[in-house]
Amino acid sequence: MDARAILMRLRDGEALSAAELTEFALGLADGRVSDAQAGAFAMAVLLNGLGKEGRVALTLAMRDSGDVLEWKLDRPVLDKHSTGGVGDCVSLILAPALAVCGAAVPMISGRGLGHTGGTLDKLESIPGVSPDFDGEALHRIVRDTGCAIVSASKHIAPADKRLYAVRDVTGTVESLDLITASILSKKLAAGLEGLVLDVKTGSGAFMKHKAQAIDLAQSLVSTANAAGCPTTALITDMSQPLAPNMGNALEVASAMRVLTGEAQGRLFEVSLALGEALLHGAGLFETETAARKALQSSVADGRAAECFGRMIAAQGGPADFLDRWEMLLPRAPVCIAVKAGRKGYLSGWDGTALGMTVVDLGGGRHVETDQVDPRVGLSNVAPIGTTVEAGDPIAWVHACSDNQAAQAAAAVLGAVHITDDAVDVPDLVQERIV
Ligand code: URA
Repeated sequence: MDARAILMRLRDGEALSAAELTEFALGLADGRVSDAQAGAFAMAVLLNGLGKEGRVALTLAMRDSGDVLEWKLDRPVLDKHSTGGVGDCVSLILAPALAVCGAAVPMISGRGLGHTGGTLDKLESIPGVSPDFDGEALHRIVRDTGCAIVSASKHIAPADKRLYAVRDVTGTVESLDLITASILSKKLAAGLEGLVLDVKTGSGAFMKHKAQAIDLAQSLVSTANAAGCPTTALITDMSQPLAPNMGNALEVASAMRVLTGEAQGRLFEVSLALGEALLHGAGLFETETAARKALQSSVADGRAAECFGRMIAAQGGPADFLDRWEMLLPRAPVCIAVKAGRKGYLSGWDGTALGMTVVDLGGGRHVETDQVDPRVGLSNVAPIGTTVEAGDPIAWVHACSDNQAAQAAAAVLGAVHITDDAVDVPDLVQERIV
């Protein structure tokens, strides 16, 4: 393969053939494509686009850069994936809840990408937990517990594992082609029988405007359906953090509060909306209302939390995580309040700025080799619509030093909009694309 020739054609806006994209994806997977070439590829795709055919070809090539899993289970193999947001820890809630409701959920997830958090980084904030399972080990965990949350690997969508890390640090995340190929290569490689996609729109999403999110959802749904995986997408609001917490261990805490029935709110509502669409679409429940009730009871009676606890233990974490999660999750040494500078209505957040604040605290990566600090982040971020007085806390910063905490507090104050007039809170679920 001549990677340089492929890159030059892409640079010049020429359409690449399926064979060229397949070669490039295989080169990403086996190391024949260098990091510099991977970065150039991502930037050229972002700037010039691949076209519809090229996008489908890249998706299938990245899927086929590794194995496609086969399942012989007595229940449907289903999954959910988000296009990325802030305070979005739905996967930690939904994987076990779907498993309790009759699905098998081999969830192949990602790390933090750009300003957004990643499910794998969140999971790894639990002491001992590993996302590195594939082959028989992955099958065993899914068979025994109903769900697993794992990484792309050298066997599963290895081209995405490589390109994902490069995109994270090269400003090349926001490409419809690359997001489609990244998400679907993993999901199609997982051998799914049904998928629901949470396509985010708003200031904390990659697609800031609803029209862009609809385009992305249509691209994802049509590519997945054409590849034989029945898929629905919901467009959901990301104009503010979905959970009140952002950051790895802090988001695990948010998910645990929902799973243990202590909290509900927007995080639980999005989880239910996605879950009911998926379970009903897969024929496990006759109506979405019945699916919603089943998901609600799986949380209310503790079965979803128990399932999550079993999955954590199976993936190397503490056997008693469910009982002791508050003690076991790591905490940052410094915690300070961010205080509103004026009285008024909290009318909006710059979600990307909040996400970058968490990355700057050490909760995400600036370069691929950065180690993520699981302890840092923001908590109790006040939702849009809150009435505040000057000096009221609108968020708490969790940092590893006083200096970092002060810088993050200033960044949070720069990301909030407080106005005299009340605002409408955006709808959580805005559209459905089938
Ligand atoms: N999730 C992924 O797996 N890939 C993306 O590009 C965005 C979100």
